[in-house]
Formats: sequence, C-alpha cells, structure tokens
Amino acid sequence: MIVRRKTRKVMLGDELHGLVGIGGDSPVSVQTMTACYTHDIGKCTLEINRLAAAGADIVRVAVPEKKDTAALKEIIPQVRVPIVADVHFHFQRALEAIEAGVHKIRLNPGNIGDRAQVRDVIQACKARRIPIRVGVNEGSIVERKDKQKRAKELGAVFSDSRHGQLLAIMIAKLEEYLEVFEKEDFHDIVISAKGIDPLLVIDAYTEISKRFDYPLHLGVTHAGPRETGTIRSAVPLGHLLCRGVGDTIRISYASDPVYEVQDGLELLYVLGLRQRVGAELIACPTCGRIQVDLFKLVQEVRKKLAEEIRLPIKVAVMGCVVNGPGECEGADVAVFAGDRRGIIYVQGEKVANVAEEGILDRLLAECREFQSRVERGQAKLGEKKAPVLVPESGAAEGLGPA
Ligand code: SF4
Repeated sequence: MIVRRKTRKVMLGDELHGLVGIGGDSPVSVQTMTACYTHDIGKCTLEINRLAAAGADIVRVAVPEKKDTAALKEIIPQVRVPIVADVHFHFQRALEAIEAGVHKIRLNPGNIGDRAQVRDVIQACKARRIPIRVGVNEGSIVERKDKQKRAKELGAVFSDSRHGQLLAIMIAKLEEYLEVFEKEDFHDIVISAKGIDPLLVIDAYTEISKRFDYPLHLGVTHAGPRETGTIRSAVPLGHLLCRGVGDTIRISYASDPVYEVQDGLELLYVLGLRQRVGAELIACPTCGRIQVDLFKLVQEVRKKLAEEIRLPIKVAVMGCVVNGPGECEGADVAVFAGDRRGIIYVQGEKVANVAEEGILDRLLAECREFQSRVERGQAKLGEKKAPVLVPESGAAEGLGPA
C-alpha cells in the first residue's frame, strides 16, 4: 500500500459543484482543462459537463480575455464540478474570475510582474476562501523583463545537461513566490512544478516535497499526443505517486481532454490510490496459439462494460488454456478461448461453453447478472469460490489440443 506524504489540505468547490479536498487525507484527484474557448458559453459548458461525466474531479478553463471571465458567470451555474480559472499575464482576469464565482485560481506569479497585483489577487482569494495554485513550470520560470537576468538564466538552463541549475532556479523562484503569499498570511496553496522532461519532473517534485508541506499538483507539460504522451506522463507521475508524492494530477495531451481524465483515473486505479468505478478488464496480448478473434472481442467487451457495469467487477478475456485458467481464477467473470469457442467462468465456477459468436453476449449477460447479485448482497466482489483447472482434454471441451 502506498503511504501518502503528509501535507496541508485545501478545499475547493461548494454544495452545487461538489467539495473537493487536495492534500491532507483527501484522495488524489484528477484534473483536466477544456480545449475550447471559454467565451463560447454553450460549447464550454458542454465540454465541462462531458469531462465531469468522464470522472474529472476539477476542470480548469483558460481566461485570456475579459469576455472569458464574463462567460464564467453563465457557465458556473450550469456545471456540477469545481472550476479553476487559468490566469496568465493579466491579474484583472483573476479578480474577474473570482467575482464570477470560480472555485480556484491558477496563477504563475512569474508572468504577473507587479507584486502589488499579485497581492490584490491573494486578498481577493482570501476573502472568498478560494485556493490558488502557484506554478513554476519549466517553460515560464526564466526572467522575461530584465534582459541581463534573462540572458544569465537562459545560459544556465541551456548549458544544464543534468538539469541541476534549472532545478535550482525553479526552487528559488518558488521560494520567492511563496514568500509573497506567506507575507499575506495566505496558505490555501497548491504547488506545481511541471516540465517536459520526465526526469526533471521527478527531481523537481521530489525536492519540493522535502521543502514545503503544501499539496502538490503533478503534471508533465506538453506531453504530446496520447500515443506517446501516455508513457511520458505515466512514468514520472507513477514514480512520484508510488512514493506518496502528489495530491492532484493532470495529464496533458494534445488530444480530447476526456482521455486525460480516463488515463489519469486509470493511473490512480492501478496504483490503488482510488477505488475503481466500473469494471476492470484483463486481456491477454494473444500469440500464435490464439484461435478466436480476441482483439475484436476485447474491444467489444471493453465498450459494453463501460456502458453497462457500475461496480469494479474484474473481467478476464483470455486467448487459450495456457494462461486462461490462471487469470480466470483471479477474475469475477472470465472467459478463456480456443478452437472458435469460449469457456465462461463466474468466480471459478464454469457456467457456459459457447461458440465464438456467442462469447460476447454470454459474457456480458454473466457480468450483468453478477453485478445485480452483488447489489442484492448475494455475491461479493473478488471472492474466489473454486479453482479453475486446465481441462484434462482440451478436445473434450471443444477447445482443440490442450
Ligand atoms: Fe497466447 Fe494463450 Fe497466453 Fe493468450 S493466453 S497470450 S493465446 S498463450
């Protein structure tokens, strides 16, 4: 079991949008960000609701212009998930978003040069008990206004083959920013220190976790398309979460943000950091022994389970008798296939031997029936009733040579 790092706790949201804790004893939450214009009220509202339905605990929106913060006034009452306003460069956007009823502000003090303006935002958040995420992303920490300082910092970063200097700049900037917040006696803070290099992300959050007790928002900036961004994100986030570091996560893909939510949740499920919602699907990769169209079957089963199963039922779809019985034994509902047929088990008990074209329907029928038995208190998830044995003769089972 993963032992989480002890941190302060911040709360965001309200009765209508749900209350979400970050840090302390709260479960690790999953965030994402809309990919549409916030001022397109209809589209933005629809997207936020779609992300919430996919399981997002928190949704962030960009507010680069006044028309975006104006739109928040109409969007917020129509959604049921806490909303974060993402503010860069213009402190007024933060004040307008707070006025519009936003539940959290994401601020990079580095790109709001005037400390008095940052203090105004802090005071407005304090008055409404709204937390702030303070970000020191790799791409935005280097000085922009003071040309000499910028040249020096850029020189350090680009000569930094092992990212030690970059890390030092990130920590120094963070300390500088936090001082502004702490001087205002403001502690409802979440820290992020994202980067594109997974090893930098690991080192940055590890160092920060040793120095500050504020909750941490984990992420890899600009992780790319889902096809490659999955690994780029899961490696550092998984590494940190396994060590108890990280209180809320955002996976950032150049893709539909629903995937960010789905993959973020899956990461937390496999690490045992969140109770799974819906079925868990195990499937073999297939090999030269396969005798059914398993890839097609697995995709159909996955789609139907997502639509119909609410409970964390473990379902296994296996290609043959080599590893089939072992996985079937550990699953609630399972099938192992061979010779254009499938044997279906429910908690170790053989319930059917069907032809390939009947596998999907029968397997799903067993999943639905098992779910309703669990809901009626007549069965328990994860209970092993009987060992699944390799058939003495595969041929006798209609599965071909065993
Ligand atoms: Fe191959 Fe059978 Fe293992 Fe699937 S279960 S990978 S078909 S040996």
